[in-house]
Amino acid sequence: MSNNINNTGITIACSSCAQKFSDLTPLATCSKCGGLLDITPAMPALCSEELQNLFDSRVSIAAMRGSAAGRSGVWRFRELVLPISDADIVSHPEGNTPLLERPAISKFAGVKNLLMKHEGFNPTGSFKDRGMTVAVTQAKRCGATAIACASTGNTSSSLAAYGAQAGIPALVMVPAGRISMGKLAQTVAYGARTLLVRGDFDDCLRLVRESSEKLGVYLANSLNPFRIEGQKTIMFELLQQLAWQSPDWVALPAGNLGNTSAFGKALREAQALGLITRIPRLLSVQASGAAPFAHDFADNFAKRTSVRAETIATAIRIGDPASWDRAVSAIRFTNGVVTSVSDEQIMQAKQVIDASGVGCEPASAASVAGVRELVGRGIIAPHERVVAMLTGHILKDPEKLLNTNDAHGHAAANAPIEIDATLSAVERVLQTATKA
Ligand SMILES: *Cc1c(COP(=O)(O)O)cnc(C)c1O
Ligand SMILES: [Zn+2]
Repeated sequence: MSNNINNTGITIACSSCAQKFSDLTPLATCSKCGGLLDITPAMPALCSEELQNLFDSRVSIAAMRGSAAGRSGVWRFRELVLPISDADIVSHPEGNTPLLERPAISKFAGVKNLLMKHEGFNPTGSFKDRGMTVAVTQAKRCGATAIACASTGNTSSSLAAYGAQAGIPALVMVPAGRISMGKLAQTVAYGARTLLVRGDFDDCLRLVRESSEKLGVYLANSLNPFRIEGQKTIMFELLQQLAWQSPDWVALPAGNLGNTSAFGKALREAQALGLITRIPRLLSVQASGAAPFAHDFADNFAKRTSVRAETIATAIRIGDPASWDRAVSAIRFTNGVVTSVSDEQIMQAKQVIDASGVGCEPASAASVAGVRELVGRGIIAPHERVVAMLTGHILKDPEKLLNTNDAHGHAAANAPIEIDATLSAVERVLQTATKA
């Protein structure tokens, strides 16, 4: 395990005890102390302008006609992720997600200049594909015979799809009775062996870590540093879309804190390479029933707390976030803020996002709800440029769509109406609709 020089040039080392690992290690955490592993990419021998031109050159008609990896919004940045050739890559492709702007959502959030980067446009409907293409590629490189994850549903959907593509059996553990129908259906349909664990997400994660240590399956949770490397490309792609002009704020929902960590790492590297000169402030938003990180932030990260998590936003229903240390460093580096919003605030934001035609799953709406909260508290100014991450697709959580209540607990105004199969019944509905 002493070999840290390899053909990819990346260095893998324990963030706690500094033990080094080969770039083909099957381990996701340190075998000496259990700490999280950090990856340092070899800094490319190109100046910032050459790098920007290289990344831009990969968005072209020629690239569109090329390989899946050549079209991927993750592997476009492979020099900063995992510099390997197309033949070794398991790519759908993924990424290339749009930046959207909707006046109604800007007005709701209280900022003039609000963009939403919609990661629900990824192949399995969430940003998890960004990290999973790299983790499954890495599993294949090191000859893994099975891959496992704990999940609230999106990681399992993504692992199931990429495992199927790579031909590596996937084992997923999800909390029984606490996973949305859309996510469970996807996971099963893509062919993952699905275990419904009688417990919550934190129990699933503990169990999958034990299975990985004792049974030798490759761990695909965001503890795995290759997941983080892939998720950095959300930030790289955003900056590229903005012509490398940083916004003032980037808001995102926060559960297990993998994405908060990835964004911090991406910004650190982008600055070190001279790709950007200004660091945007991160705003990590938790649900108030699952807000240990927001609590710790208020306490200046003096200690690490955990809670029994409860929120309607299942993707962030996590009480003991695994990437806590990495996320603390991301918030400190970006002069970031961590806040929490109630389920009512989340569903209110979701209703505005959905009704604008954009749509997202409940957890995603926490980012917009968090922006509104910080504008209300005077921390974000109305003239600042803000990007809110929408992390998952509207159809991920269909149960919540048909019983959406407004902030006052009233049933949604737009509930479906059952009618007789007659034209007069249609006419009656039209009359009330145009009157409203
Ligand atoms: C996983 C997920 C999150 C939370 O991201 P973390 O990296 O765990 O903090 C938020 N929204 C959606 C839709 C997710 O799938
Ligand atoms: Zn260690």
